[in-house]
Parts: sequence; structure tokens; C-alpha cells
Amino acid sequence: MARYKDSVCRQCRREGIKLFLKGDRCYSQKCAIDRRGYAPGQHGQMRRKFSEYGLQLREKQKARRIYGVLEKQFRNYFKKAASQKGVTGENLLRLLECRLDNVVYRMGFGLSRPQARQLVRYGHIEVNGKRVTIPSFQVKEKDVISVRENSRSLSLFKEISEAGESKVVPEWLSVNFDTLTGEVVSLPNREDIDVPIEEHLIVELYSK
Ligand code: SF4
Repeated sequence: MARYKDSVCRQCRREGIKLFLKGDRCYSQKCAIDRRGYAPGQHGQMRRKFSEYGLQLREKQKARRIYGVLEKQFRNYFKKAASQKGVTGENLLRLLECRLDNVVYRMGFGLSRPQARQLVRYGHIEVNGKRVTIPSFQVKEKDVISVRENSRSLSLFKEISEAGESKVVPEWLSVNFDTLTGEVVSLPNREDIDVPIEEHLIVELYSK
């Protein structure tokens, strides 16, 4: 399966913002954006001026990198968003937010989206009592997401359960950290999705 081979911190430096791809490290002084907040490469420190197309392209890349989605998959999300009722940009973000790996991350069961994706792939997560190992699985309203009973004794999940009360969970989700179980209360609206993405630029890019 295709995957990113670049260092994940380089992706943040390329986009000029924290994409929070490395869990605790992102909040520490070791974060590459805090230490070298310029683009990677020989000309990284030069001032960058983007054309309209360049801005649209960067926004799309940023969204892809935040959610860890490859180009073809991202285009498919856009096609699906455009075919749905409502505002295409908002539909697109909702589809991305409702990926199972993102929901696991939002519920606080993984420290970053890449870690949450691994937890899903390794079979630690159940949806409505059934194991699901597909990170792109779309959750629906009222779905119950839980850490498998056999996995709850892992040190990672014990720590998450203990730290639970301090975690901030978005309003469209509810979580019980004692049982490591959460519910999709409702599907997210745009104001529930706190990603720094100007989705209209992505819509303009794909509408050319
Ligand atoms: Fe990005 Fe996290 Fe690396 Fe900082 S530590 S550059 S936020 S992935």
C-alpha cells in the first residue's frame, strides 16, 4: 500500500503550521516547527509568494496531510462531497472528520492521527461491537466506538484511561474514559471542526 515516506515533521515545515502528527512531541520543545519554523530544503528560508493556484494547491496538501489521505483518495472524497446536498467544502471536511482513525484520535484514544490509524489497523478498535481495521471507515451518527476489551490492558490505553478527564473531546462526540467507549452524538458541523483549512480554496482548485 502507498504511504508517505517523507519525515512527518518536514510535512509540517512545508505547510508552515503544526499538523500534530507526532503525539506528545508536538507539544514539547522538540517540535521542529518551534525549532525551525521555515520550509525544508535549500531555499526553505526564502520568502514564499504563492499564486492563486499555489495557494489552492497548498490548502489541499495541508488538508491531505492533516488527515493522512493520499491524493487519489482525497479526490474521491471531493467527488463524494460534491455529489452530496449542502456546501461542498463543508461536506468534504465532514467526510474527513468522520473517518474512523480521525474519530479515534478525536476521542482521545490515540495521541495523534497516525497513531490512531495504527490502532485501527492493528485491530484494537470496535464499532458497534465489531472489530473494524479500516482507518477510512466512515462512522455514522449514534455509532459506538470502543477499545477492544482484550486491548484495554495495554499500557497505552491504561494511561489514556487515567488521563481521560483532562482530555478535550469535541461536542459532537461523547466519551467514557473508564470503559474507553465513545459515541458519535451527531455528525459535525463546520464550526465543530477546528482544523485550520480554508476549504473554499480546495473547492476552487478542483472546480477548474
Ligand atoms: Fe509537526 Fe508534531 Fe513534528 Fe511539530 S513535532 S513538526 S507538530 S509532527
